[in-house]
Amino acid sequence: GLLDSSIRAMTHKRAAVLGDSYRLFYQNPVHLVRGRGQYVWDAQGHQYLDVYNNVASIGHCHPEVIAAVTKQMQLINTHTRYLHEGILDYTDSILATVPNAINRAMYMCTGSEANDLAIRVARAWSGGTGIIVTKEAYHGTSELTSGASPALGSGQALSSTTFLVPSPDQYRIGSATLGDWFANEVQQAIDNMAAQGIKLAGFLADSIFSSDGVMPGNPGFLNKTIDIVHANGGIFIADEVQPGFGRTGEAFWGFARHDLVPDIVTMGKPMGNGIPVSGLLAKSDVLAAFSDQIPYFNTFGGNPVSMAAAQAVLNVIREEQLQAHSLRVGEALRTELLTLKDKYECVGDVRGAGLFIGFELVTDKQSTTPDKALALRVIEALREERVLTSVAGPYGNVLKLRPPLAFQKQDIDWLVGALDRSLCRCAG
Ligand code: PMP
Repeated sequence: GLLDSSIRAMTHKRAAVLGDSYRLFYQNPVHLVRGRGQYVWDAQGHQYLDVYNNVASIGHCHPEVIAAVTKQMQLINTHTRYLHEGILDYTDSILATVPNAINRAMYMCTGSEANDLAIRVARAWSGGTGIIVTKEAYHGTSELTSGASPALGSGQALSSTTFLVPSPDQYRIGSATLGDWFANEVQQAIDNMAAQGIKLAGFLADSIFSSDGVMPGNPGFLNKTIDIVHANGGIFIADEVQPGFGRTGEAFWGFARHDLVPDIVTMGKPMGNGIPVSGLLAKSDVLAAFSDQIPYFNTFGGNPVSMAAAQAVLNVIREEQLQAHSLRVGEALRTELLTLKDKYECVGDVRGAGLFIGFELVTDKQSTTPDKALALRVIEALREERVLTSVAGPYGNVLKLRPPLAFQKQDIDWLVGALDRSLCRCAG
């Protein structure tokens, strides 16, 4: 048909003019032209359910963000070398969401930049260089962060100062012992580091372990690990790029599901609902070791338009009570997904917090062997059902269900119905 040829032409054009590192979703790629709330539409007018996008976290094209950005864009967009109240007002708002000990903010444009700066700050403060991350972590695109991102695969060399710990796989290790087990792994990594003459700078982790395969663990399971990191002179950098901004329902931040205070909190993706903005919050004494020595200017970081978007996002999360909504709808969704686990031998585990859910496909419940091929077929089948999502984890066998927080009851029915049909068709 006409559209098929236009999809084909665009796909070929991409391959001809864009860098080869880009990856498209789906064998039958989707050409999106419009979005609203939890729905997106393709060029042919088909409506899709978005079960993956945590950038448009408060809903695609939220009118309050559009209004705030438009208003500021019409006044001025400038940078942090001039006074502007937008950055100060937003900083008051965002610091009110974290423990009091965290009392400084810096702004940039991407999660990668936030983590990159966090690593530099950790090193300046600790005098060490060693960074601990999980075995499948992803933390960004820069030299420092990609060198601490084993998820990029064997083509990307890890930095010699990056030390890996296994993923906190609650499904296979068991929730009850997960905290002690993980703390012990982190202690071993610190010991390995010391044996190589490398001093610990910090532990950098996404507290929902998204790229490891969505592993929220029980609230509190990270406490002992962070105590060990601190006792060994390191800091904890909470990478909130994925779990932050009410996503987990149980808390506004992923780390806040646990009883601990990070030294640095980095954030991005949902922060501006699509307007590029990221941030780093830190304890002032931790930041000082870096800030006293090295100036930091990020041309677009903290600009008034991005700050207006970020402020609107916080306002909407509060006004629409999206954190409580995420908790409620996420629980209802997991309940429905558990009925699929009972129905299908290939559904090994359903886990999550709020609207951040891992749905793990295995060859059989007994062996828990990851079934990557099945997961790929199911993702493609869901796309034909006009449900957009993707996979996570080293074996790509965990469906990552992470819709905009605007997700509603009728969307649960669409998703679970489509998933049921897709599993029926693809399994066995
Ligand atoms: N940290 C985590 C946990 C992420 O998921 C990502 C993006 N996938 C990043 C950092 C990097 O963010 P960005 O792509 O905005 O640089």
